[in-house]
Amino acid sequence: MKPTREQLRDLLQQVAATQAEEIDCEEFLARVATYLEKLRAEETLASELSQVAQHLRVCPNCSEEFEALLASFE
Ligand SMILES: [Zn+2]
Repeated sequence: MKPTREQLRDLLQQVAATQAEEIDCEEFLARVATYLEKLRAEETLASELSQVAQHLRVCPNCSEEFEALLASFE
């Protein structure tokens, strides 16, 4: 049975929403250096960097990692 156009649209929206809002730990670590540089330069955070911030809020492991990085920066 083929999915209806309605179902396809829903699926695409779900995928888009996931990509826009969530990154995993690997992605987080890949971006965190850039994030720190931006923070230090007090630049406005790009939307993709807000995903880093978002991940910090939901992932205790990366929060810990991030705190360690911050400490080493100061
Ligand atoms: Zn994480």
